[in-house]
Amino acid sequence: MTFAPRREPLAKLPTPLLDLPRLSTVLDGPRLLIKRDDLGGFALGGNKVRKLEFFLADAREAGADVLVTCGGVQSNHCRVTAAAAARAGMRCVLVLSGTAPGRFIGNLFLDQLFGAELHFVETREERAPRMEALAAECATKGLRPYVIPLGGSTPLGAYAYVEAVKEFAQQCRLLSMPISTIVHASSSGGTQAGLVVGCLAEELPTRVVGISADEKKDDLTRMVNDIAQALAERSGLPAPRKDQIEVLDDYVGNGYGVPTDASEEATRLFARLEGIVLDSTYTAKAAAGLIDLVRRGRFKRDEMVCFWHTGGNISPA
Ligand SMILES: *Cc1c(COP(=O)(O)O)cnc(C)c1O
Repeated sequence: MTFAPRREPLAKLPTPLLDLPRLSTVLDGPRLLIKRDDLGGFALGGNKVRKLEFFLADAREAGADVLVTCGGVQSNHCRVTAAAAARAGMRCVLVLSGTAPGRFIGNLFLDQLFGAELHFVETREERAPRMEALAAECATKGLRPYVIPLGGSTPLGAYAYVEAVKEFAQQCRLLSMPISTIVHASSSGGTQAGLVVGCLAEELPTRVVGISADEKKDDLTRMVNDIAQALAERSGLPAPRKDQIEVLDDYVGNGYGVPTDASEEATRLFARLEGIVLDSTYTAKAAAGLIDLVRRGRFKRDEMVCFWHTGGNISPA
């Protein structure tokens, strides 16, 4: 059987691939570019829009009428799932870990605005069992639930980033030379798995460096590898070697969503030099990693390096 998952268009594609001229000059290193998946064109954009295109199509094929997923209280994935469900005329059930704040701001406000049903649990470990319980409850009411695991980081979700690399490879053809490295924020592993398999499939000479937003290097490397191997096996696309999955966990600081001095500096530099907004949980830390690698001389001046902006522009205090 051939692997050709359907997608239901949500995003505005292709997202722009642009130069970062002023940041490149200030850092005085390689030529820096940015792939703007923050401008995904649906529900405030971000990497989850690409993934939802495939989950939504799969849910429709399964005859589903409820999307069930989970994340942290300010999850971008939950925000995009809620919006996708609204657009598809489906219900949405979200399991959010962390305490429900007194006032719903940021993504939590949007989840509610998009009409999702919200369930709060205290710990991350409670999320998956609670999703299963709520899905079972939906089924007893005669509904047809479709469960999307955390971050949409399944082989299907990762496949969205294989498709994204096809788009990127087309854009790269217009450049004078290949991009040596993609740097991006990595957390549940699906985006990185798709980027790595996609670069192999397109035969790009491009390394992918995932900057962890929370997980330890070894854990995230294993998560990315598991998804990439499963995707390769299912699709017949090339499987990465272990050394092709590069994760850095040096920029997490005091944990998920907690800003660091470096992430705040990165946010200021992107804002004031390029007019681009980063979020404190993911992209500010990935940008801090990129800036640090440039300052440490890890790239040659005649290289081109792409910061893949995965979105998440809402950073409520
Ligand atoms: C979810 C998310 C990521 C991480 O993507 P994964 O596929 O979970 O690794 C990075 N950046 C932003 C803004 C996100 O919302």
